[in-house]
Amino acid sequence: MNKSYDLQPNSEAESITEDDLKLINAYSRKRLKADDVFVFSAVLCDNEIDRDFERFSVESLKTLAELFVGKTAIKNHSMNSEDQSARTFKTELITDENRKNSLGEPYVYLKAYSYIPRIKKYESLIEEIESGIKKEVSISCCVSKSICSVCKTDLRQSACHHKRGKSYNGKLCYCELNDPLDAYEWSFVAVPAQKNAGVVKSFKDKEGNKKLSNIVKSLGEAEGEILLSDGEVKALRDYIKSLETLADEGREYRKALESETVRFFALTSPEISSDCTRSICKSLSTKDLKELNGALREKQQKLSAPQLAQAKKPSENSANSQFRF
Ligand SMILES: [Zn+2]
Repeated sequence: MNKSYDLQPNSEAESITEDDLKLINAYSRKRLKADDVFVFSAVLCDNEIDRDFERFSVESLKTLAELFVGKTAIKNHSMNSEDQSARTFKTELITDENRKNSLGEPYVYLKAYSYIPRIKKYESLIEEIESGIKKEVSISCCVSKSICSVCKTDLRQSACHHKRGKSYNGKLCYCELNDPLDAYEWSFVAVPAQKNAGVVKSFKDKEGNKKLSNIVKSLGEAEGEILLSDGEVKALRDYIKSLETLADEGREYRKALESETVRFFALTSPEISSDCTRSICKSLSTKDLKELNGALREKQQKLSAPQLAQAKKPSENSANSQFRF
């Protein structure tokens, strides 16, 4: 499974301690000094309910903290081994007593410390991290249990009738992810920190579109309260705005189509009152209206063709009138 997070605090450059160097050197063939590596930290996951209405239990986070040690971090979900540039050498499970998650529990998060060799190849990546990146972190792991928060059914074993994202007796239904079996890797998408619009930007890319459609899908399925992040709210707002523009354009088109069709009716079937043709046009779907418009246009063209021919005749006659006696 893959889980994506848009988390604070941002990745940070960290100073390197002697203990860190010992841990790092356990992964390196050649002996690395403090100057040879760049060390940074990132929050990988937490005990908050995510956009899929799933969350890790604190127990799971503890296990994941162990499992992520030694795993690689990939930039931008790339499968290219060139990008497997960072390795996590230390993790920490931190409880922030000053912050509560949406369930009112102390906020617990998994912080990973990783290093990147300071070589030419990774210069720009290190720069990106040093300049402060706001990132979306995506972790890849495997858990053996998904527990429904309402009835405690393990959804890996059987289904229950509760809907994730819906509230039951005022309590949000979500899935608790338990017993992690393995952690594979984690990746991060670097976005400049100063741009708050970065989150929205991520909604516009290929993957982002999928996310937006997932939000819309979850809105359609949820019957109770649903949780949205700031970024998701902003993306929805932008989406609604673009739909409103489209709707305005659609209304304009529809209006023009209706009045043109009424005009064709008047030209081809003058015996029908314009009140009647107007209400006919209004009652039709745009697709049917378009078809009717097309048919009436053709009829009108056929009707007007002989009229034009007739209209030509007198002029021809008048042109020839000088030869008449
Ligand atoms: Zn259930």
